[in-house]
Amino acid sequence: MAAYDYETHDYDVVVVGAGGAGLRATLGMAEQGFRTACISKVFPTRSHTVAAQGGIAASLGNMGPDSWQWHMYDTVKGSDWLGDTDAMEYLVREAPKAVYELEHYGVPFSRTEDGKIYQRPFGGHTTEFGEGPPVQRTCAAADRTGHAILHTLYGQSLKNSAEFYIEYFAIDLLMSEDGVCQGVLCWKLDDGTLHLFASKMVVLATGGYGRAYFSATSAHTCTGDGGGMIARAGLPLQDMEFVQFHPTGIYGSGCLITEGARGEGGYLTNSQGERFMERYAPTYKDLASRDVVSRCMTLEIRDGRGVGDDSDHIHLHLNHLPPETLAERLPGISESARIFAGVDVTREPIPVLPTVHYNMGGIPTNYWGEVLAPTGLDDNAVAPGVMAVGEAGCASVHGANRLGSNSLIDLVVFGRAAAIRAADVVDPNSSVPRPERRSVDVVLDRFDALRYAKGQVPTAHLRLEMQKTMQADAAVFRTEETLASGQEKMEDIATKLDDLHVTDQSLVWNSDLMETLELTNLMPNAVATITAAAARKESRGAHAHEDYPDRDDANWRKHSLVWFQGSNASLGYRGVILNPLTSHNEGGIDLKKIAPKARVY
Ligand SMILES: Cc1cc2nc3c(=O)[nH]c(=O)nc-3n(C[C@H](O)[C@H](O)[C@H](O)COP(=O)(O)OP(=O)(O)OC[C@H]3O[C@@H](n4cnc5c(N)ncnc54)[C@H](O)[C@@H]3O)c2cc1C
Repeated sequence: MAAYDYETHDYDVVVVGAGGAGLRATLGMAEQGFRTACISKVFPTRSHTVAAQGGIAASLGNMGPDSWQWHMYDTVKGSDWLGDTDAMEYLVREAPKAVYELEHYGVPFSRTEDGKIYQRPFGGHTTEFGEGPPVQRTCAAADRTGHAILHTLYGQSLKNSAEFYIEYFAIDLLMSEDGVCQGVLCWKLDDGTLHLFASKMVVLATGGYGRAYFSATSAHTCTGDGGGMIARAGLPLQDMEFVQFHPTGIYGSGCLITEGARGEGGYLTNSQGERFMERYAPTYKDLASRDVVSRCMTLEIRDGRGVGDDSDHIHLHLNHLPPETLAERLPGISESARIFAGVDVTREPIPVLPTVHYNMGGIPTNYWGEVLAPTGLDDNAVAPGVMAVGEAGCASVHGANRLGSNSLIDLVVFGRAAAIRAADVVDPNSSVPRPERRSVDVVLDRFDALRYAKGQVPTAHLRLEMQKTMQADAAVFRTEETLASGQEKMEDIATKLDDLHVTDQSLVWNSDLMETLELTNLMPNAVATITAAAARKESRGAHAHEDYPDRDDANWRKHSLVWFQGSNASLGYRGVILNPLTSHNEGGIDLKKIAPKARVY
């Protein structure tokens, strides 16, 4: 047994992650007087949320008529009818409240002439239940909305006496014999010490796993650590086959150009200079939802109408927009285009390509953020002591495809919901649980085995093999053949985790060991993605299966679940929640309005 000393810390609540979701949860918990710790492997304001540009959706109606019902319709349709109805209703109804709270906390939103929060159009956001023109629903702080939110929430959390443990890496959850989460074990990266955080509730807010792919807009830290911890705790991951490709990653670097660029009037062209989106999505054109635009771009390139020497990308034009608009509304992306593509956006188009951007799937939760532990008898049973919020979680409000600007709102609405729920389920006067010694030993043994791993395969090599396989075989378009061979390859790649070679054995700033731990987290996320994708014999949202081009509600309107035993994945399913929170005659949405139909833009 590995012998390590560790320091023990007691808290009511421990939040793992200091992105938008983690900070909103931390703030909410601290405001209620819970002793709250927030743990982050990077400095809070360096979390990936800082990169969010375009904005945060809420039906404030500052720029014209809007309603939560329209937002709900768009979200349901965006999800391709896979989202849970109760969670989607909760999201869109709480959204305005959550945005006004952010405003009052001090987020410096851009303003309209008369001082209201500025809102821009975004893909898939419409009026009149998809019958009217695009709506301006996305609240923005120029093109640095995530940056503004993160800094504000960090300041507010400090003000409310939340305690931060910065550059601490959470290794694993501490699960009791009977499945209760009792805390989390962490490694302090700068001095090599180990820390046991015992708590009544652990909130996972660890973000997405974009880095399972070769080309992604997400930060290198987006390694699905929460999903890895959940998989090792014997709990399932949900809807992992749904990976969002953003239409406009800069060709080559993958760096994001926000959809707000098209919201402000930008458009895409092929090698013939044609605005091809007009052909595919006559009504909403370049503002159709992301999966649709990404597929159309891929088709244009496949049909030989890509731009560039290799005809392998597409042009995004902003050069027709007034330079003042670019300077005021899109300053950040003007800079990104200059640095990463050498393009002056006032004169030339930006070379772009669909790039992995967001994970609709994640740790299944109810709309309070409580992690689900579905049993044969109860699809919605809850795992005690653990919650998940933000991109790490799957509530599921994005279903098979997330609308742009619906993630930032998901972070704050569900971060806040977790704190509201904690007030009911966490007793501030009870004693903090003592994690079982056995559970600590399991984590230490795994840590030690990786630290001294003396196999044949360096971590970086295996990671690259995984990323290339996922990029090639679980892409924008998928076929029976690519998925089957991809699944086989990924199963083989996953077994090589037992043959890793770690060169550095020290515990102080050992990036080799940290990246190895991250790879052990990426792997179950990646395997779950391709396993669930290979099984889903239909096309829905971001899962475009060429051999099954249609959505099949009769057989496939259900959530995929993937459990792990070691590196072995097994599949199951859970019903989509079709009941809203509020019935129509009590002011809820008319279910006829959101009944499944063909998804055209
Ligand atoms: C470039 C880009 C632009 C985007 N723009 C928009 C937009 O305009 N609008 C929108 O709605 N959405 C946007 N999105 C999506 C949205 O920003 C993300 O989904 C969201 O920010 C994720 O937030 P999060 O709090 O869940 O996780 P993150 O912000 O990724 O934070 C994860 C946190 O977990 C911590 N962590 C992870 N693992 C560990 C561990 N093992 N131990 C300790 N700490 C750990 C990290 O340190 C970090 O603090 C964008 C995404 C990208 C990549």
